[in-house]
Amino acid sequence: GTLMAIVLDNITYTYGVGTPFEKTALKGISVTIENGEFLGIIGHTGSGKSTFVQHLNGLLHPTTGTVTVNGVDVSEKTDEAKKMRHKVGMVFQYPEHQLFEETIAADIAFGPKNLGLDEEEVDRRVREAMDFVGLDYDTYAERSPFHLSGGQMRRVAIAGVVAMEPDFLVLDEPSAGLDPFGREEIFEEIIKLHNEKKITVILVSHNMEDISRMANRLIVLDKGKIVLDGKPLDIFNHQRHVLQEVGVDVPPVSVLIESLRNRGLDISNKVLSVDDAVKSILEGGQHVK
Ligand code: ADP
Repeated sequence: GTLMAIVLDNITYTYGVGTPFEKTALKGISVTIENGEFLGIIGHTGSGKSTFVQHLNGLLHPTTGTVTVNGVDVSEKTDEAKKMRHKVGMVFQYPEHQLFEETIAADIAFGPKNLGLDEEEVDRRVREAMDFVGLDYDTYAERSPFHLSGGQMRRVAIAGVVAMEPDFLVLDEPSAGLDPFGREEIFEEIIKLHNEKKITVILVSHNMEDISRMANRLIVLDKGKIVLDGKPLDIFNHQRHVLQEVGVDVPPVSVLIESLRNRGLDISNKVLSVDDAVKSILEGGQHVK
């Protein structure tokens, strides 16, 4: 239902209306993001991903159409609309650039303080959020956030959002610029947020592999429109030509499995990860036609 959902109803967004730089970045987007989903948003550079996600918590207001969070129009100036905007946490690209307090604890406390919570509740949330992202309070609370590794800085940024206790969390390219170890760290945190905190996750990426192993729903954008909306497996197995048309990579695992099937190997195509592909190949490999 719409009471625990983000609903975009036929939204359009135009930058620089009436200027020579006028650009319509979103064209008639309608989508309902249900509570509990892990939604992946993918698309070529300039397809409208960032513009799309900035509508989810009222950072941008649609030129036409409406966005509601838990039934409330987030473009409104009411306290209720403000409360709903806070239900949608945002972690932007390179979130470490938004760290600015002198200590890690102060940085994580910034958002909750702004909610007007009392000191005790702010402290409780900071401790819980640090614990959740695996930063030991006694070790890290009073340290400067600027001497951490890239992966750790992002954990601080994520802890800051966790401390807001959002219902929805939007992450725009959360692994950009990290090494494989740092990426793994961040994706483990995101999966934990979804599984343990039951937060609805909206993950933007141009990396199909990252998205495909986590999302249970995938939206593909092209030139400001939704061209595909479905389960990742269905899209990879049946809509690959559309992905290619809009310049989005097909996961290599799907290509490999399809190629082996075409050569007569009787193996399942219901796999997304390398591990599952190995299992499938080892099992199905016994039955070569
Ligand atoms: P993506 O996140 O998929 O790369 P964006 O939402 O950033 O796409 O951009 C969608 C379109 O809107 C692009 O054509 C881009 O050039 C344009 N655009 C983005 N931001 C602005 C802006 N501030 N002013 C004018 N045009 C913009």
